[in-house]
Amino acid sequence: MIHGSSARVESASWQNLLAGSITDPRVLLTRLQLDLSLLPGALAADRDFRLRVPEPYLQRMQPGNAKDPLLLQVLPLSAELDEQPGYVSDPLGEQHSNAQPGIIHKYHGRLLLVVTAGCAINCRYCFRRHFPYDDNNLSTAEWEQALDYIRADSSINEVIYSGGDPLAANDRRLSWLTRQIADIPHIKRLRIHTRLPVVIPQRITDDLITALCGTRLPVTMVLHCNHANEVDAQMLSATAHLRQANVTLLNQAVLLRGINDNLEAQIALSEALGDNGILPYYLHLLDHVRGAAHFHCADSEAKQLVGQMLTRLPGYLVPRLVREVAGQPGKVPIPVELAGS
Ligand SMILES: *Cc1c(COP(=O)(O)O)cnc(C)c1O
Ligand code: SF4
Repeated sequence: MIHGSSARVESASWQNLLAGSITDPRVLLTRLQLDLSLLPGALAADRDFRLRVPEPYLQRMQPGNAKDPLLLQVLPLSAELDEQPGYVSDPLGEQHSNAQPGIIHKYHGRLLLVVTAGCAINCRYCFRRHFPYDDNNLSTAEWEQALDYIRADSSINEVIYSGGDPLAANDRRLSWLTRQIADIPHIKRLRIHTRLPVVIPQRITDDLITALCGTRLPVTMVLHCNHANEVDAQMLSATAHLRQANVTLLNQAVLLRGINDNLEAQIALSEALGDNGILPYYLHLLDHVRGAAHFHCADSEAKQLVGQMLTRLPGYLVPRLVREVAGQPGKVPIPVELAGS
């Protein structure tokens, strides 16, 4: 852990933490007392997809450890620049489902709203690392069009705030949007897919909770936490706050080579979450996005890993292993291999 600045971070506003995120690879390596031989590769890969890591997340990394599981999620590496067959810029074909700005409507009954382009952290494995967010920063007229699309389709009963990270939007925008959506009678549920409570827990304020939970809609929040080291006291204070407001908390993780591709890491993650009222929902196989091939785990390893989890954990702490396949009507479940069967 990095000490010294932690008191300042605890009292900082989320806006300042977001704006003050580290984006310079040299600063990141220096802060973690790492060898600067990693710098040329980091600078090269940074030109393709920027480094971005907020202070509260950096503080959970171990100085001097180049293999830290949190660092590996954010550090640009020269390996990202190696072209790999089958790794493409839009693996899920989202740019085609994106007929209307701000909306991704691929599955029955559920619709993703791209609330904002920005993220609080740039995860190197992100399948949206090449997404044309600039075309998805909506004007007021476009917001009205997106809402009209939802109003006109009564088969949609759940709206999912996505991004980017939807909680990078300000409270005023979220409050307005949520009230508009709650006024649409066929919408029954609101869901928020976000990594912000993990990477900047200070984002969970009373005002945010009022903005999201102040309507008739039940709220589910799907966090994105990949490793037990991400679960710290500050994150848990944010999630406790959400639970008090009756928000259902789930987690989705991505299976990442060298980060969480072993039984101990997965058990530690499920227990750290489950002990705090957050249930594992999905474990995603990596999307084959250009620049992320070095995170790939073989399907056979993934099936065995989740099979072993089923023998070690209560069933409700074992996430569903899934893959997204372009053109499929839902996430595709991957059958696991139960250990000892
Ligand atoms: C993942 C996803 C959803 C939600 O799927 P669930 O299985 O309900 O979690 C909805 N729309 C899109 C485009 C998605 O990628
Ligand atoms: S927070 Fe989510 S959307 Fe943003 S870079 Fe990370 S994985 Fe991608």
